[in-house]
Amino acid sequence: MVFSHSLRFKIMLVTIIASVASILVILVITPHMVENRFIEQAKNRHFQNFTQALLEFKKSSENWNTREGAIKYYQSRFQPDRHNRRQIAPKRPPAHLRGLDSGRPDFSSPLASDNLRFVLTNPAGFVVLPFYHYQAGQLINQNELSEAEPLVHRGELLGYALASGDIKLSEKDNTYLQTLTDSLLISALIAVLFASSIGYLLTRSIQTRLKRLIRATQNLADNPNPSDLKMPGKDEISLLANQFDQMSARLTDQFNELENSHQIISEQARSLEKLSYTDELTELANRRYFNDAFETLLKEARVAHTDLSLILCDIDHFKKVNDEYSHQIGDQVLKQVAQILQSSIREDDIAARIGGEELVILMPKTDKQTALQAAGRIRNNIETYPWHKIALGLTITMSSGVASLNDEAAQVSCNILFKRADARLYTAKSAGRNQVCG
Ligand code: GH3
Ligand code: MG
Ligand code: MG
Repeated sequence: MVFSHSLRFKIMLVTIIASVASILVILVITPHMVENRFIEQAKNRHFQNFTQALLEFKKSSENWNTREGAIKYYQSRFQPDRHNRRQIAPKRPPAHLRGLDSGRPDFSSPLASDNLRFVLTNPAGFVVLPFYHYQAGQLINQNELSEAEPLVHRGELLGYALASGDIKLSEKDNTYLQTLTDSLLISALIAVLFASSIGYLLTRSIQTRLKRLIRATQNLADNPNPSDLKMPGKDEISLLANQFDQMSARLTDQFNELENSHQIISEQARSLEKLSYTDELTELANRRYFNDAFETLLKEARVAHTDLSLILCDIDHFKKVNDEYSHQIGDQVLKQVAQILQSSIREDDIAARIGGEELVILMPKTDKQTALQAAGRIRNNIETYPWHKIALGLTITMSSGVASLNDEAAQVSCNILFKRADARLYTAKSAGRNQVCG
């Protein structure tokens, strides 16, 4: 789930989790440490009291370090009047300490503790302050002695203190701990707010820049253009953006070069294609183009049930032109005849040079009558052209044979249609030239 979210969401989530986790760890550790410190302080305070009390007693006692000394101490401190027990009966402990005080001889004693219990011994290990199962004057074993805290005054060992039992913090301490816990919880809340704000602010620039980078990538994919991210700074995103700018510039250059060469190649292909179906001298379509176009137009005409006419033209006595005026003049005549043809036909008609001085006009959707009229018009245009401009005394005429699809047998082929037109051209020639035969 998390993996589908934005980078910004993930960073903020990590920041918040990290801050909450650290506060929770503090929340668990700190009260424990504070509680230990409280207990330690309380113990030290009591140890000082014990040391003081033991020191005072030792000054007045010669055999302090014996069992008798221990019992004497106990009796002097906690049972000053054995005959009047009522006087030394332990006071009732405060409510919060009830249950902890069984066996405690005197809570008003300077050795007593509010919430800690101690067993004191003299240096030899004889109990002077009993508690639990211990009796005054009892010798505690070596293990217990090794765990006990030595009470030392100016380098002199005065006794041992065994701190044990249930240790309960005072109400004040508990209030303090509760306040601490509350303040830590508030800190956790503030930390979350702080972490989310910091996360939000820190990731804002990252997110904005990443978005720009993504947009630039999409733009580049759609339309190769050098990107202009220009991100200041030296962090990874800025470096990436600058690299991207450079890369997109290179890519755009290469793309433009490719476009140019593609254009050049396309133009070359177009001119090659044009060359392949254009007659060089007259710039009319050549024989190859005529053959293809003838096939196509014939099929279209059959499908669409329209007509298609063909005018086959041949310049009269062209050999004589070459002979009398030169081959160059002959070429000029050919060019001019081609121009007259081209300017005399419709846009859909196709004029082609299919041989030396043989020209042909394909007229789609044209019946024979119309084709004959067109051929007549062309014949006239050629005859009346001022040929003397090319060579003094030059006259040119042209003969044509016309054939139309609907005028012939139903399944007529290009070949047959052409032959019909050719036969009519021959007829026109035989009939004296400068005429149209259909
Ligand atoms: P007809 O009236 O019977 O058509 O007589 P013609 O002289 O036109 O016919 P013929 O086929 O005998 O001669 C065609 C001539 O056309 C022969 C050739 O020298 C000339 N010719 C063919 N191609 C070219 C060309 O590209 N340029 C020039 N100048 N002459 C050409
Ligand atoms: Mg001829
Ligand atoms: Mg000829």
